[in-house]
Amino acid sequence: MHNNLNNLQEIIKEIYSKDNNQNKLVKIIAVCKTFEMDKILPLIDSGHIHFGENKVQEAQNKWQDMLSKNKNVKLHMIGKLQSNKVRHAVKLFDYIHSVDSMKLAKKINLEQKKVNKNIGLFIQVNIDNEDQKNGVAISELESFHEQLVQMNMNVIGLMCIPSLNSELEIAYDKMQKMKNKLGLAELSMGMSFDYLKAIKFGSTFVRIGSKIFGKRS
Ligand SMILES: *Cc1c(COP(=O)(O)O)cnc(C)c1O
Repeated sequence: MHNNLNNLQEIIKEIYSKDNNQNKLVKIIAVCKTFEMDKILPLIDSGHIHFGENKVQEAQNKWQDMLSKNKNVKLHMIGKLQSNKVRHAVKLFDYIHSVDSMKLAKKINLEQKKVNKNIGLFIQVNIDNEDQKNGVAISELESFHEQLVQMNMNVIGLMCIPSLNSELEIAYDKMQKMKNKLGLAELSMGMSFDYLKAIKFGSTFVRIGSKIFGKRS
């Protein structure tokens, strides 16, 4: 796992040395869902900072003790977040990538005030305008963002999960333009199979699972 991560870091550094326009080095979120702590520990010990989980319960079981011992580790919630899990999520995570409704945003706001946190938030964008997909519609993004800012929430970027048959370049280009229009700093896009494309369009957080940890069973 450690070697896989090192390889990725080398590939990313290589891209940056060729392309001077990009001044912000992309950060790798090691997506460790379904993997046990014994597989994750070597990465923590090597100093890796960003880890991603997609289920609150699993993340609690795996990370609660670990986080109190490793204060520099940052945990990212990248999966669909149910309202009834927000209280636990807010305690555990440093970032939430999946803010996809006003109901969820309000709940996060309520719960994080109780524990005096201001979590780094990504608005999940329904980039392909799919009915069944989670995410804020592109047409509603600006007003959604504005409302979160009004509530003093710490919105740092946009996130998307393009559908498998979408034109990735078109989707990522749109994301980059929307992020710039809203004046946000971060873009969470790109997974094991498409992270290079995502980086081309200014991704600042790639979410990599299988390319680091191997296939999930
Ligand atoms: C699982 C997951 C990833 C990582 O996927 P890989 O293909 O294993 O890199 C990234 N983002 C989200 C939202 C995920 O659920």
